[in-house]
Amino acid sequence: MTGKTHAAVGICSAAFILVPKVDIKTALIGLGFCIIGSYATDADLKRSKAGHIISDAVHAISILTLLYLLLTYKFHYNIWDLLGINMPGKLKILGVVLIVGSIILGRITGHRKYMHSLIGLAIMTLGVWLIAGGFAVWFGLGYALHMIVDLLNEKPEDLLFPLPIGRVCFSIVKSRGTVNSALSTIAYVGFTCKIISIYNINYLYNIFIK
Ligand SMILES: [Zn+2]
Repeated sequence: MTGKTHAAVGICSAAFILVPKVDIKTALIGLGFCIIGSYATDADLKRSKAGHIISDAVHAISILTLLYLLLTYKFHYNIWDLLGINMPGKLKILGVVLIVGSIILGRITGHRKYMHSLIGLAIMTLGVWLIAGGFAVWFGLGYALHMIVDLLNEKPEDLLFPLPIGRVCFSIVKSRGTVNSALSTIAYVGFTCKIISIYNINYLYNIFIK
């Protein structure tokens, strides 16, 4: 699956599970974390093997920049103040070490090994929690759904890494085929419908367009 599809599935699920429980500002930041989580799983991809990586990166950076600008200029929110308000500096450093260490380990062990395992999910989410507190839930949701969606295609994931068992895939779809596009479209439509049902269209128009 492409990064765009992973991001779409992530934010669609977040719209149903997490967005209804928080205010709109928290939701916008949370959706940013969910998108980052949905991309982070593939930090074990080597650039040369991923021709689509630049278009995915542009897509992710565009959405995250848009969220940042909305929060800063429409809501007058300083998101840097919000991140892990209660987390002491030493724990934040530990969080950065866990994340950077995980990405390095993911690249050493190879694609769909450590980064696509339950231990990788747990340690990456812990790293984000140490930096950003509760937003780690959004990150973890995006990350976990990436792993679930990847199970659909033909390259196995080492879910129980480093154990030699637990290599799983269902070989149902190709990563860039029709199902990828369909899944992405369904997820974006689901996300849009759910967001409109939560906030109503006039409210969204007043906030985002007016
Ligand atoms: Zn993946």
